[in-house]
Amino acid sequence: MKKLLILILCLLAAPIASQRIINMYDHVPYVEYHLLQEVAKDYLGPDVTIYYIHNSPLHPFVYGVTHKTHPKNYIIQLNSSHENELDRIKTLLHELGHVIDGYQGRLTYNPVTWDGESYPNLPWPARPWEISANEWADCLFYEYVIEPELKRQGLIPTAGPRIQF
Ligand SMILES: [Zn+2]
Repeated sequence: MKKLLILILCLLAAPIASQRIINMYDHVPYVEYHLLQEVAKDYLGPDVTIYYIHNSPLHPFVYGVTHKTHPKNYIIQLNSSHENELDRIKTLLHELGHVIDGYQGRLTYNPVTWDGESYPNLPWPARPWEISANEWADCLFYEYVIEPELKRQGLIPTAGPRIQF
């Protein structure tokens, strides 16, 4: 009986919901799917779903696009003609920045507002949500790409035991 109770407690303690990353097509590069999963786990709520289209026929000047289709559903598209993996990763992290800002309520999609203000006719580089997405891309690139590699090479210390107070 005691073992059964322990088993039930373990099952209850297990996470019952998690973010869903849905690849709309096959052959998504593993690194892109992995980054989507990791960033969603760390920055988005468990009820968020991201539909990922890694090979959209977008205009050559458009590397990626993010849409919000529901309060907790997003679509991220990356350009199919955009093949350099490093550029693709940076674009994906930029688009994830838009998702995070949307999830946190700073960015609304229809109509587009930032911190409750609309900015009609603002040139692209001056749009605060684009500046924010670029900052997210830089931070996330460090956190999920550079820092793990520096730790792997022993160039920066990995986390030691937690300090007890
Ligand atoms: Zn953007």
